[in-house]
Amino acid sequence: MEQELAYAIGHDQLVLHYQPQVCAKTGEMVAVEALVRWQHPTRGLLYPAQFIGLAEESGRIAEMGVWTLREACRQLADWSARGIHIGNMAVNVSALEFRDHRLLDSLQAALDASGIPPQRLEIEITESVLMAETETSQRIIERLRQIGVGIAIDDFGTGYSSLAYLKRLRPNQLKIDRSFVNDTATDSDSRAIVKGVVGLAEALSLNVVAEGVETEEQRAFLQDIGCHTLQGYWIAKPLTVEALEQWLLNRRT
Ligand code: C2E
Ligand code: CA
Ligand code: CA
Repeated sequence: MEQELAYAIGHDQLVLHYQPQVCAKTGEMVAVEALVRWQHPTRGLLYPAQFIGLAEESGRIAEMGVWTLREACRQLADWSARGIHIGNMAVNVSALEFRDHRLLDSLQAALDASGIPPQRLEIEITESVLMAETETSQRIIERLRQIGVGIAIDDFGTGYSSLAYLKRLRPNQLKIDRSFVNDTATDSDSRAIVKGVVGLAEALSLNVVAEGVETEEQRAFLQDIGCHTLQGYWIAKPLTVEALEQWLLNRRT
């Protein structure tokens, strides 16, 4: 499978699906998150859980990351050129990629090739990047800020959430992990945690995104407590390019 993956990266077998993020108040689309899939010739469509680990272990994750950044930026430029308004583009970057300064080169190359403004790109990193904060990852993050690319902390609250790094790093955005969002209907502790994170984000002037919004009840609660942005199956599943464009058309009518 390792060899198959190496082959897949260079032969158009990877594909990005895009999941909308909408403003909690107005429902307006503010961004999409790019999520990678592998269209395997015999096994069908594979999800990240089935191959990201392999990509990391086999040292192919950087190559995959280069492709993902490039493709996501290209797609955003294509939508822009066609007058399709989708807002920003969020791309996941694995902790391993943050240990290699070449990430910056591929990011800059993706920006240059597509011509999209850096401000429209957001890099999603998990707390594990920050936990293992090395000199390299620190420098990469600083450089991202200089370039003007946004930084979002993914799965916020699940890792070792040191509040010190929020102060030092000043990400643009926190993404509340879906496990907390999921429990808000039944668990008052989860509601308190989600409220607390929204308050924390507010105090630090960060944008806050709730992930995994699956029900109207969750949506209403999140809107009520002032969460800015919503993402989840209740709004839309991750969609192919064609399906996303259709979804946008249907919303307008
Ligand atoms: P993530 O960054 O936390 O992405 C969100 C995951 O939650 C996605 O799974 C998405 O399909 C799923 N999701 C979204 N809304 C809902 C919902 O309402 N309910 C439920 N139950 N799930 C929802 P997916 O696409 O399978 O991706 C899994 C993980 O793989 C991602 O988690 C991310 O960490 C990683 N990943 C995805 N694409 C990339 C990539 O291009 N590069 C790297 N390094 N990692 C990626
Ligand atoms: Ca993510
Ligand atoms: Ca997440």
